[in-house]
Amino acid sequence: MRLIFLGPPGAGKGTQSERLLRYLRIPHLSTGDMLRSAIAGRTPEGARAEEYMSSGQLVPDPIILELVAARLEKPDCMSGALFDGFPRTLGQAQALDDYLQQHGRPLDLVLELRVPDEAVIKRLSGRGRTDDRPEVIAQRLKAYWSQTRPLTDYYSQRGLLETIDGIGSPDEVFDRIKRAVDKRQSSRTKRPLPPTN
Ligand code: ADP
Repeated sequence: MRLIFLGPPGAGKGTQSERLLRYLRIPHLSTGDMLRSAIAGRTPEGARAEEYMSSGQLVPDPIILELVAARLEKPDCMSGALFDGFPRTLGQAQALDDYLQQHGRPLDLVLELRVPDEAVIKRLSGRGRTDDRPEVIAQRLKAYWSQTRPLTDYYSQRGLLETIDGIGSPDEVFDRIKRAVDKRQSSRTKRPLPPTN
């Protein structure tokens, strides 16, 4: 199964991704993690990304697309993937669509975890990552609403979007996610197989 996990910073994607990965046994493609490891490894991409990340802005698409393309080449991604924090712009979404289409690996589902800004700010303030300072949080939220949220329309038009209420205990939220995933998986197995010739 190939799915995208959308949601504002602090919506609880990290916690829920972990559970979802264990449930579906697919690789985790987190661009945030890829960028942080590029920075730690002092790669040229890391050096370029750092200034954007520390101010809460999105890293330019070409850097992101390069990191993701390299990851998607790995054999473990053939059977499925959880895209976490990617795509975050329309350009990234279109590039991902092109890639997946060319490789005959369609997307199955886009989960949008919905949490109001007030809750997000409260959660992030207690976390302590270097980009969790109040002014950087505000910028990250702004980037989410202006650049990433429009992707929900893009995927909803393609019949891929499921919106999940992100308020509740981690178990409650995961139950909702699991229901959406199970529903999609059962409709997928009922889909007629493409012709083999
Ligand atoms: P969060 O969802 O809490 O913001 P992430 O780890 O997903 O955390 O992202 C941290 C930062 O990394 C973002 O603020 C942004 O600067 C950068 N980043 C991560 N993924 C992307 C992406 N797909 N496109 C552009 N920038 C990204």
